[in-house]
Amino acid sequence: MKTDYDLIVVGGGVLGTYHAYHALEMGLRVALIEKDKMPQGATIQNFGQVVPSGMDSKWQAYGRESLTIYKDIQSKFDISVRQNGSVYVASNDEEVQLIEELRQINAANAYESHLLTQQQCLDKYPGLRSDYVKAGLFFPEEVTVEPRTMIYKLQEYMIREMGLKLLLNTTIVHCESSLEGVVVSTAANEAFAAAKVLICNGNQFKILYPELFNESDLEVSKLQMLQTKPQGNYVLPGSVLTGLSIRRYEAFYECPSFKAIKAKEEPNSLEKKWGVHILFKQAADGSVILGDSHQYADARNQEDLGFDLDMDIDNFMISEARKIIDLPNYEIQNRWYGRYSQCKTTDIFEKTIDANIHIITGIGGKGMTGSAGFSKANIIKIFNT
Ligand SMILES: Cc1cc2nc3c(=O)[nH]c(=O)nc-3n(C[C@H](O)[C@H](O)[C@H](O)COP(=O)(O)OP(=O)(O)OC[C@H]3O[C@@H](n4cnc5c(N)ncnc54)[C@H](O)[C@@H]3O)c2cc1C
Repeated sequence: MKTDYDLIVVGGGVLGTYHAYHALEMGLRVALIEKDKMPQGATIQNFGQVVPSGMDSKWQAYGRESLTIYKDIQSKFDISVRQNGSVYVASNDEEVQLIEELRQINAANAYESHLLTQQQCLDKYPGLRSDYVKAGLFFPEEVTVEPRTMIYKLQEYMIREMGLKLLLNTTIVHCESSLEGVVVSTAANEAFAAAKVLICNGNQFKILYPELFNESDLEVSKLQMLQTKPQGNYVLPGSVLTGLSIRRYEAFYECPSFKAIKAKEEPNSLEKKWGVHILFKQAADGSVILGDSHQYADARNQEDLGFDLDMDIDNFMISEARKIIDLPNYEIQNRWYGRYSQCKTTDIFEKTIDANIHIITGIGGKGMTGSAGFSKANIIKIFNT
């Protein structure tokens, strides 16, 4: 069998694309195969917040590596990266305690962060309400990307500058190993051969290896998102994460007071029922993306999440957001939901079918932040073992 490629990556979302990127960096011949005309999964449905500050120590390290990679690519080609930092805005004494503890953890890990006073927060983030904010924790190195364009620009760069072969509108329906490598077959009866195949299929569990996914502990989260109309001259820099994120993000689990503070929370609140925390990010057109909620179903039952947007959830998120920032305009121009997959018991789903077929998915809510760094380590692992 003559292989066309050293690596075929199935799935053109951020996780697959960065695996392809690092394989190309190693000088390999790589094809990236995507079923849609343009990738439309979680990778374009999200906020575009690249926030290693919110991750546990393992994923913060990948996220910090991702920051370096995003900035390096941006210095050569515009993929929509903006470095305006991230802030966690604390709204009461407990959250202030958690951001102080997180600052110490990050100082010990040599990751730059600064505590902001209430006044510094009010000065830096126009419209932030003085009856909400008590203090903030700012991470200057962090960036945002435009989720609706970043992946297409990155792939364009990889085609132009790195020799990527990108096949769109191509669904892989079968993978077959032989002694020399793997043949992948498409729904249109084409076949491509490679030494190795990596499947980064997001939450598409019905096409390849459906039994394996059905029997896994993968689950799918449905997240509702909102986008205001453009805000005129108003500028909200970077990623703004607020009190409920401080109470939710994995980085804070490592704070000494986290457990005791969580134990005091009201178990039947609407934010718990709908998994709501409030994040803000201004898009390049001046609109502000707001979200999000989280509803879960096992991978095999993801249709149970439905296709409707629940207006009670949207209205709750808007009313909570209004308590935090007085945006000039809360008129909503777009509403959508996104879905990502994650494991219940591990931080990512990794399965080796045989020596030459690997599956990587279930990166959960950390894909825009962690994929670039994680993929680098994973490609080295796959090609050196
Ligand atoms: C609403 C929302 C907000 C989020 N906000 C953030 C954030 O601010 N920061 C952050 O770090 N993360 C965020 N995330 C998480 C992040 O978006 C995901 O972790 C990430 O996009 C997952 O990427 P992926 O490549 O694994 O999956 P996907 O983006 O779903 O890509 C999988 C791709 O594989 C293709 N595919 C599947 N099967 C086949 C096949 N057989 N043949 C060919 N192609 C196939 C699909 O068409 C798809 O394009 C958010 C997610 C959502 C939904």
